[in-house]
Amino acid sequence: AAILLAAGSLTACSNGSSNGSSASTATASSAKIGLLLPDSVTARYESADKPYFEAKVTALCPDCTVLYANADGDASKQQQQAESMLTQGVNVLVLDPFDGEAAASIVGEAKAKNVPVISYDRLIDSPDSSAYISFDNEKVGELQGQALVDDLKKTGVPAGAGIIMVNGSPTDNNATLFKKGAHSVIDTSGYKVLAEYDTPGWDPAQAQTWVAGQITQFGSQIKGLYAANDGTAGGAIAALKGANVSPLPPVTGQDAELAGIQRILSGDQYMTVYKALKPEAEQAATLAVALAKGQAVNGTSTTNTAGGAAIPSFLLVPVAVTVDNIESTVVADGFYTAAQICTAD
Ligand code: BGC
Repeated sequence: AAILLAAGSLTACSNGSSNGSSASTATASSAKIGLLLPDSVTARYESADKPYFEAKVTALCPDCTVLYANADGDASKQQQQAESMLTQGVNVLVLDPFDGEAAASIVGEAKAKNVPVISYDRLIDSPDSSAYISFDNEKVGELQGQALVDDLKKTGVPAGAGIIMVNGSPTDNNATLFKKGAHSVIDTSGYKVLAEYDTPGWDPAQAQTWVAGQITQFGSQIKGLYAANDGTAGGAIAALKGANVSPLPPVTGQDAELAGIQRILSGDQYMTVYKALKPEAEQAATLAVALAKGQAVNGTSTTNTAGGAAIPSFLLVPVAVTVDNIESTVVADGFYTAAQICTAD
């Protein structure tokens, strides 16, 4: 904590000595915990996951240190970041893999050093990760697909009308699950998928370029737009506006990013999916501290990797958000204050 929170640790230290049991507090574990996040084109990692994780580690283990790195959408960079943390003697890695298959080699290198690895948010395709903490990601896709289909029906868009789909990164197991969940609804809805795209690295700029091309090709046939997260939704909406599409078709999203919530309020985006990132990050921190102390972890379920290994899992529940329930979801949960949302951009 001394490295992590310079100011906060002073308070922690004085609390520790004033209770008269400085010896016992001083013997608490002083583990090093590595947190590896996948990209910097998505707001959640540095605005939510990282600070929530660090705060929980510090609360549970004042003498623990968190080492942090962001792969910036580059699997080999993430590999180097992990190796550097192993060299620095981390006791546990919490890894949100940019590429879930490539990251298996990180788990292998960690295992060789007896360092447990937690699959954070995205599943690593390795039999050796100690736990997997995420959301029901197929359900995320179902919520997106259902909201889109319901809105098209509600607004009288006839069966056979077209939808384009902006999916997530092909290296992200979650993107596969979101797509699967969304297709399960859209493909049985009577609406037709005109085209779909797996966005490299979830990059909003590439989503925008692809959508611009689809507008050129399909024009007013595009009645609905599935975007797998708020970043790609932002790119898609920029393309629609750039082509003067009016009115905008309903556009989905995910993450309840501040920009996404503001677009929902202004009417540019139809929905997002709120995933409570605080409990996700805190669960990961709790497990990381337990593993660092050599304790065993048990999930509330198991998740199979592509190779068929069952990983102990904690899967949280996602919630669809439209203009009708912003207040009872992200605001009620303390994810944003009304003032944050209402700040004019
Ligand atoms: C996460 C999403 C995020 C996306 C892009 C996914 O694995 O679950 O919350 O928007 O990656 O980083």
